[in-house]
Amino acid sequence: MRLIEHFIDGASAGGGQRKSDVFNPNTGEVQAQLILGTQSELDRAVAAAEAAQPAWAAANPQRRARVLMRFRELVESNMEELAALLASEHGKVIADAKGDFQRGLDVIEFSCGIPHAQKGEFTQGAGPGIDVYSMRQPIGIGAGITPFNFPAMIPMWMCGPAIATGNAFILKPSERDPSVPIRLAELFREAGLPDGVFQVVQGDKEMVDAILDHPGIGAVSFVGSSDIAHYVYERGVRAGKRMQAMGGAKNHGIVMPDADMEQVVNDLCGAAYGSAGERCMALPVVVPVGRKTADELRVRLIEAIKSLRVGVSTDPDAHFGPVVTAVHKARIESWIQKGADEGAELVVDGRGLTLQGHENGFFVGPTLFDHVTPAMESYREEIFGPVLQMVRAESFEEAISLPSQHQYGNGVAIFTRNGHAAREFAQRVNVGMVGINVPIPVPVAYHSFGGWKRSAFGDTNQHGMEGVRFWTKVKTVTQRWPDGGASGDSAFVIPTMG
Ligand code: NAD
Repeated sequence: MRLIEHFIDGASAGGGQRKSDVFNPNTGEVQAQLILGTQSELDRAVAAAEAAQPAWAAANPQRRARVLMRFRELVESNMEELAALLASEHGKVIADAKGDFQRGLDVIEFSCGIPHAQKGEFTQGAGPGIDVYSMRQPIGIGAGITPFNFPAMIPMWMCGPAIATGNAFILKPSERDPSVPIRLAELFREAGLPDGVFQVVQGDKEMVDAILDHPGIGAVSFVGSSDIAHYVYERGVRAGKRMQAMGGAKNHGIVMPDADMEQVVNDLCGAAYGSAGERCMALPVVVPVGRKTADELRVRLIEAIKSLRVGVSTDPDAHFGPVVTAVHKARIESWIQKGADEGAELVVDGRGLTLQGHENGFFVGPTLFDHVTPAMESYREEIFGPVLQMVRAESFEEAISLPSQHQYGNGVAIFTRNGHAAREFAQRVNVGMVGINVPIPVPVAYHSFGGWKRSAFGDTNQHGMEGVRFWTKVKTVTQRWPDGGASGDSAFVIPTMG
C-alpha cells in the first residue's frame, strides 16, 4: 500500500505512528495510507523553516518572484498528471481538477508581481529634515490548514503571497486528499525554492493543535467548516498569532421575474451540482421571486436535471463525479432525509445512485427540493453535496432578507435584467461576495476572497492585497539626518512635526 508522508526540509519524511486511509471515491477502495504527524514532525519543519527563512527574506523580491514564475510553468507542464492525481483522491472530474490548479495559479501569477505589491510608503519632509517611510516585512513562519475540496487552489491562495513576501510556509492539508500538496512541494523544489521555505506536514487535529500552539509560527490561515474555523481562530489568537479562518457557506441565488430563465437554469445546474456541490461558492439555495417565476423554474430545473450525467472523474462527459468519502455520502443522504422529514417537497431524489462497474463509489445524484422554509434545519445548515433547495419568496424584500439573515455570508447571486434591482441588492445584502448574473462570484486573484458572518473569522481576506497584508507586518521608520551636531535639548513632550 502506498504511504503518503510529510515533506520536510526538501525531502519526503516519515514520522507519526497513527495512519488514516485515503480513498479513491470513484471505486470506494482504499488507495493509500496517510501518516498522521505529531508535534515532533512539526518541530522539525519549524526548525528547517527557521534556518531557511532569513536568507529567503533577504533575497531581492525579483528573485523570489522568478522562483514563483518557474513554479507556475512547472505546474502548467505537469497539468495532466496533477489533475489525474487530484481527481483520484477528491472525485471531481478532470476538467474541474484542472480548474482547481488554474485558479491557484492565478494567485501565483498575482504573487509574481510582489516587487510592486510589497512596496512601502514614503513621505519626504514630514517635519523639519524628517522623512517617514514604511515597509512590509514578512511575519517569519506562516502556516496554512486547508480543506479537502480545493487541494490545489486553496494552498496556493495562501502560499503564493506568503512565500512571495519572504515567509517560510508550512502546509497542513486535508487528510482526505493529501497527495497533491506533496507534488506542489516537489515542484517548488524543482523551481529553485530553497529547502525549508515550503513544507508539508500531514495530520489531523493533533497536528492542527500543534501548529496553533507553536511559538515559532507567527501567522495561520485556515479554510474549512465553520465550527472548526471558529475553534482554530480562537485558539490561534489566544496563542498570540495573526489569524484568518474561513468557514462554511450556504449561498443563495435570487431569481427575479425578469431574469433570462434559460441562462439561470444553466448557471444553477453548474453552480449547485458542479463538483458534486462540494464548493464553498456553490449555490445550494435558489430563491425565485413570485409564484410564476418559481413554477417555471421548477419545471425547467426538473428537465435540466434529467440531462445531467454523474460519472467517474475520468469520464469526459460526466458533469460531476462522486463525493469525497463514504462518510460524507452518508451525511448528505441523511440531510436529504431530514429535509423530507421537515416537510420540504423532495422533487428529485439523488439517493441510491449506483454506477455500473463502480458500485462501491461514493455517488449521490442531483437532488432538488421545493417549498423549503427558513425554519428548516436542512436550510439553516450546510449540506455540501449535490442538493438544491428552492425557497419561494413573494417579493424582492423577502428575497434580500433570506441570505442577509442566514448565519453564513460567503457568496450570493442575483439574476435579473434590472440594473436598479441589481445595484440595490449588491448595496444592501449582508454577504461578502456578490454575483450579478454570475452564479459563482469567486473574485479574481488580484481582488480578494472572503465571506461575512460565520463564513469567516478574522479581518483579512485571502489573496490580492489583503493576502499581502496578512502575510506581512508594517514597520515605519521616522528618520532625521541633521546637517550639524545634536541640538543638546531634550524633548519631554510628544514630538510634533509642525
Ligand atoms: P474541515 O473543517 O473538516 O477540515 C478543514 C481542516 O481542518 C482540515 O485540514 C482538517 O484536518 C482540519 N480539522 C478537521 N477537524 C478538526 C478538528 N476537530 N480540530 C482541528 N482541526 C480539524 O473541512 P472539510 O470538510 O475538509 O472542507 C469542507 C468545508 O470547508 C466546508 O464547510 C466548506 O464550506 C469549507 N470551505 C470554505 C471555504 C471558504 O473560503 N470559506 C473554501 C473551501 C471550503
